[in-house]
Amino acid sequence: MIAGLRNGVKNFEAVERQMPEINDDEVLIKVAFAGICGSDIHRGEEDNAKWDTIVLGHEFSGVIEKIGANVTGYKLGQKVSAAPLCPCHKCDACLEGNFSLCKGYTFVGSRKDGAFAEYVVFPGKNLVPLSDDFPLEKGALIEPITVCLHPILRLGNLLGSTVAVTGLGGIGLLAVQIFKALGAKNIIVSDVVDEKIELAKKLGATHGVNVLRDNLVEIAAGLGGAEVVFEASGSLPGKKSAIQIAKGRGKILLVGTNPSQEVVMDGVLFELVSRKELEMIGSWMNYSAPWPGKEWSIAAWMLETGMIKTDGIVTHTYPLKDVQIAFNAVYDPKEPTIKVVLEA
Ligand SMILES: [Zn+2]
Ligand SMILES: [Zn+2]
Repeated sequence: MIAGLRNGVKNFEAVERQMPEINDDEVLIKVAFAGICGSDIHRGEEDNAKWDTIVLGHEFSGVIEKIGANVTGYKLGQKVSAAPLCPCHKCDACLEGNFSLCKGYTFVGSRKDGAFAEYVVFPGKNLVPLSDDFPLEKGALIEPITVCLHPILRLGNLLGSTVAVTGLGGIGLLAVQIFKALGAKNIIVSDVVDEKIELAKKLGATHGVNVLRDNLVEIAAGLGGAEVVFEASGSLPGKKSAIQIAKGRGKILLVGTNPSQEVVMDGVLFELVSRKELEMIGSWMNYSAPWPGKEWSIAAWMLETGMIKTDGIVTHTYPLKDVQIAFNAVYDPKEPTIKVVLEA
C-alpha cells in the first residue's frame, strides 16, 4: 500500500509500505480522507528522526476492510472513523473515565502508524460508526470537532449567553458553530486575518474582531463580557485577552496549545483571574466515559445533519500521493490554509 511518510524536516513522500496485519481485537480500515492536524504540522517540522518512521495522521474517515474475530457489531464496507488514543483501560485514570490522563497509552498517528496511508489499523473498541449516508469527505473533521466538544460539554446551559472564540483556525471555526447550535446569543470572534473573521461570521459569529485593528476588550465589555471564552489561538495575546474579556465568574476554556512560547503577563492582569473569580478550564484531547465518549457520536451527528458546515474550513484537498505538495501548502505562510486533507 501507499503511505505518506516524512523523510526529514518538512519533507514528505509517498512510499510503498507493507500492508498492515490485524489481531483478533483490531480492524483494518481503508482510509478515505485524512486531515493534517496542527500536531502533524509540528511533527513535520520537528528535528526528530522518529517522525521519519511512523506514519502520521489521526483525523480521518474510511470503510472497514477486515474485522478481527473478537470485534462485534460491525460489517465489512461499513463507514467509520476512530478515536486515535489507545489508553490502557486498566489504570485509575482510565477506570475513572479520564482517558486523556492515562500514562500507559499509545496513539495511532504518532506512536503507531496512522491514517496518511491507504490502510490503517485500529482496535475495534476505538471505532466510531458512521451511517451509510455519511459524507466521507467531511470525516476528517470528526476528531477536531470532538476536541471542541470535550470542554464545551462540561459547561452548563448556553442559551442566550455571550461567548467568545479567540483564534480562528479549524478548531475555532468549528467551536463557533457548536456555540451557535447551543443557542449562544452573542458569539464574539477574534483573529488577525479578515478572511477568517468573515468566514466565522458566515458560520454564526455575531461580532468579528481583527485584533490588529479593533479593540477586543472594549467590544466584549460593550456586551457585558463573555460568560465563556474558548481560547483556540494558543498565543500569549489570546491567553491575555481571554482573562480580560471574560465576565465575572466566567469560564475560560484553554484549548489552543503552543508549548514553545513562554507565558509572561503582569501581576495585575493575572490577578484578574482572582478578582473576577474566573474559572480557567484546561482541556486535553477528546475522551470521556463510556469510552471513547459522547464527543465522538455527537461530532458525527453534527456533521451528518449539516449542523456543522465544513465549507471554507477544508481549504485544500490533495491525493495521498501528493503528500509533499499538501505539506508544502501547510508550511507556506502565503497559502491561506485552514484544514488540509489528503484523499487516499
Ligand atoms: Zn488532531
Ligand atoms: Zn490507563
